[in-house]
Amino acid sequence: MSNTPTILWLRNDLRLRDNPALDAAVKRGRPIIPVFIWSPDEEGDWPTGGASKVWLYGSLCALNDSLHRKRSRLIVRSGKTHDVINQLIHESKASAVYWNRRYEPFAVDRDARIKSTLKSQNVDAKSFNSSLLFEPWEISTQQEQPYKVFTPFWKACTSLTEPDEPSILPNTLRPLETWPASVAIDSLGLLPSIHWHQGIRDSWTPGEVGAHKQLKRFVQNAMAIYSEGRNIPGQQYTSRMSPYLHFGEISPRQIWHEVKNSLAGIDSEQGVKSAWCFLREIGWREFAYHLLYHFPHTTTEPLRPVFKNFPWNHNSDSLQQWQRGETGYPIIDAGMRELWTTGWMHNRVRMVVASFLVKNLLLPWQDGAQWFWDTLVDADLANNTLGWQWTAGCGADAAPFFRIFNPVSQGEKFDHEGHYVRMWVPEIKELPDKWLHKPWEAPDAVLSDAGIKLGRTYPQPIVDHKLTRHEALEAYQQIKGDS
Ligand code: FAD
Repeated sequence: MSNTPTILWLRNDLRLRDNPALDAAVKRGRPIIPVFIWSPDEEGDWPTGGASKVWLYGSLCALNDSLHRKRSRLIVRSGKTHDVINQLIHESKASAVYWNRRYEPFAVDRDARIKSTLKSQNVDAKSFNSSLLFEPWEISTQQEQPYKVFTPFWKACTSLTEPDEPSILPNTLRPLETWPASVAIDSLGLLPSIHWHQGIRDSWTPGEVGAHKQLKRFVQNAMAIYSEGRNIPGQQYTSRMSPYLHFGEISPRQIWHEVKNSLAGIDSEQGVKSAWCFLREIGWREFAYHLLYHFPHTTTEPLRPVFKNFPWNHNSDSLQQWQRGETGYPIIDAGMRELWTTGWMHNRVRMVVASFLVKNLLLPWQDGAQWFWDTLVDADLANNTLGWQWTAGCGADAAPFFRIFNPVSQGEKFDHEGHYVRMWVPEIKELPDKWLHKPWEAPDAVLSDAGIKLGRTYPQPIVDHKLTRHEALEAYQQIKGDS
């Protein structure tokens, strides 16, 4: 029996370095069968969205290449996870199944069922933590409750021992003599039949190698000015680690230690402050997972129940204008078009477009969360839920509802020279800076010189900010009265 293989069930941990389930499989010393199971029907309300599927396709190909370099390969199957694992055990006589944990509600339930069934069949079933610095159940308040406020949560995390050093690339992965059958990655239907995804392919290099290159670039070129630069959407001052983190092509532990190690080479106080500011954002990701684990209903329901009674508007026309980036507010339209083209949007702009949807269009935050889910390459149930509930004012440690972003002043402040808007809304790029974020206020002659006919070449604003802001605050007063 000493040759009975270990099945390495890969999910959102598509890397070879610092992969605890893989390390344990290597340590076990038996041949390893790396397997990816495509089972979108098991993902409840949140099957992998369109842009994420494009990313996943690239990731699986990259992982398969890396495995081949280790004389291994990725076995790809689709179907019910439980059935596929049982079938593989039957075919290969595997005696162990190892995987890294996921924290989405559907995955927690499914994985627990699979683990207990495997154990009852005397299969060595083990799960590991590969995607978080701190397990959600390791951190609690003095009253043994989950945290709902970020600062004390992060303080509690950082007062624990330093996250472990990441492990290194295993030398060898013991191969099998006869490999189980695999379907082609192409057959999973991850790439769309209508070719809308070229922008995503041009913008990113999915996979472990791409993740480390991107991190190095960030640490060398931008991290020292991150604390200020991270608000400027027209420049690449943030790490763009989010899709890599979501799919586990890099671990937060690797990021943590890479950043900590780089501190020795930073000689300015500002640079050190920026590095810590960046690690704090990794902390927000930890907080998002803490909340998702402890409050799984919040993917669709507000954490603060009073928001269930919010008098939302259900206007499908304005939802569509927002989705298409045709609201007449340049910073909003730039963000929504960046999202559509590249599968990513800058965090500052995510907050502004989300505030606009919820507080100016009075559309339910869940509609925005669904659109992001389908169009982001980094769509992540924990971070997306936190981001939307934060903006809508109904989540943990959320922005107060009355904080309503003004899309004009946000644009003027953070895209002062207009690089971002000119990049994504080229039809107004000839406007002078003064009018770029509010074309409807520009004199006719200025519009005409810039080749713009409002309402024809670029929309008039679909709502009046001041008026809708007032309506939103009135609606909020109504539900506040209910509490
Ligand atoms: P950096 O600024 O370089 O930060 C590094 C990492 O820290 C990020 O990759 C991310 O993992 C984490 N992080 C940064 N900001 C946040 C935050 N506010 N909350 C949680 N984690 C954070 N992020 C996602 O990964 N997936 C989502 O689906 C998602 N949806 C969002 C929806 C809304 C409405 C909002 C306001 C934010 C959302 N975010 C989401 C958080 C944030 O916008 C992105 O993580 C960030 O823009 C990714 O870019 P980056 O990797 O360059 O970030």
